[in-house]
Amino acid sequence: MSLRESLGLNKYKPGKVAEKKPAAKAALPHPGPKAIGTEDVVCLCGHVEKMNLFELKHDRFQDARREKMQQRPCSTCRRDEHDSRTFRDWQKAGEKRRKNPPQARHRLPDGSTFFVTYNAESESWTGTLTVTGENGHTLTAMSRGVFGLLSILDSKYRQWLHTKRQEKTEVTEPQVVAT
Ligand SMILES: [Zn+2]
Repeated sequence: MSLRESLGLNKYKPGKVAEKKPAAKAALPHPGPKAIGTEDVVCLCGHVEKMNLFELKHDRFQDARREKMQQRPCSTCRRDEHDSRTFRDWQKAGEKRRKNPPQARHRLPDGSTFFVTYNAESESWTGTLTVTGENGHTLTAMSRGVFGLLSILDSKYRQWLHTKRQEKTEVTEPQVVAT
């Protein structure tokens, strides 16, 4: 064995590896970076699908991927429902679902923290809910009961997230402002 061979320097023999490698790469949409998290995206049908998030430097098309998901039915609907439905039908189904969202389906993000303190004088609980990450936010509330407090904080966060997402779509869509 030569020195080059023992160092593995002769591994790339022209015509042998060169044919295989590009094909294997093309099969993977994201061969390099690993997902650092997911984002809930509401699809055209109104169902929520997870979109993988990558560090932005590796993910120049994140907005385009999100838009694509929003403009088509989710993968389950695409698979299960017959494809006679038109874009308009899907849009209607989505609007309906967005108006009456199924509750308790989306859990809080990983690592969400409640911190509650009892005040004997006012006989009430004060608490904060802290969510970190992409949809990070901290909320404070007060209630007589500790369980009530937790659910108030929970729904406050969902409301905040809903508003935030609506503002986001309003910014990306061209708006006709009524005067
Ligand atoms: Zn769907």
